[in-house]
Amino acid sequence: MTLPPRVVVLAAPSGGGKTTIARELLHRRPDTFGYSVSATTRKPRPGEREGEAYHFLTRAEFQRRVEAGEFLEWAEYAGELYGTLKSEVERVLASGQHVVLDIEVKGARQVRAVYPRPASVSIFIIPPSADALIERLRKRRTESHRELRERLAIAVREVRTAEEDVKSAIVFDHIVVNDDLDVAVKGVLGIVEDPDRVKHRTIETIHLLADFVRKLEHEAYQLGQSVKGST
Ligand code: 5GP
Repeated sequence: MTLPPRVVVLAAPSGGGKTTIARELLHRRPDTFGYSVSATTRKPRPGEREGEAYHFLTRAEFQRRVEAGEFLEWAEYAGELYGTLKSEVERVLASGQHVVLDIEVKGARQVRAVYPRPASVSIFIIPPSADALIERLRKRRTESHRELRERLAIAVREVRTAEEDVKSAIVFDHIVVNDDLDVAVKGVLGIVEDPDRVKHRTIETIHLLADFVRKLEHEAYQLGQSVKGST
């Protein structure tokens, strides 16, 4: 690889498909990409193994590591703590590979401050429509109604951040629509491997983000109403 290894930040609203894209990147280019396994206080979902999906920590252990300065970034998401360990990122970069971070938006902002462009590249991934995102979140079924509502509320905030960031591109260099997995993965590959690539923000993307915020807000409101109705 001729390009110096970069920190590749993939952020997306929950259900946006970033984990699938990250997995696919590593599968297609195992020599080029490495994954940073995050730490979290969230309980493992069925099938998630320690050290693969996450390092599962108690809150006390997580806090201890925060105080020891072991995190590149960390954030609270839906009541749980998530963070990127410096050791993970440094290990992958030292091996000459780009390191992929699958993180939420507050963390993406913090990474930007430590690894400015072009040492990092940050990509916001959105599903083709708000309906597709809601559908994916519902299908996951590992979350309770309350958790679903919480994740949806966070999704609204995250997409709004991306929308506000469209012109300044402080947090995100690129926005990729995850309609077709193959197209999205190729899009991400093209972005990572060309640090000079110019941001391409079409008016469609701007409209898509605005439409997303509107629909997600509506869905979050509906969910809120149905909770009230059932209690
Ligand atoms: P989940 O609980 O669905 O695995 O993840 C919830 C959210 O936390 C997702 O947006 C995911 O990308 C984000 N996340 C996972 N690891 C990290 C991390 O190390 N740092 C931050 N800031 N967010 C993370």
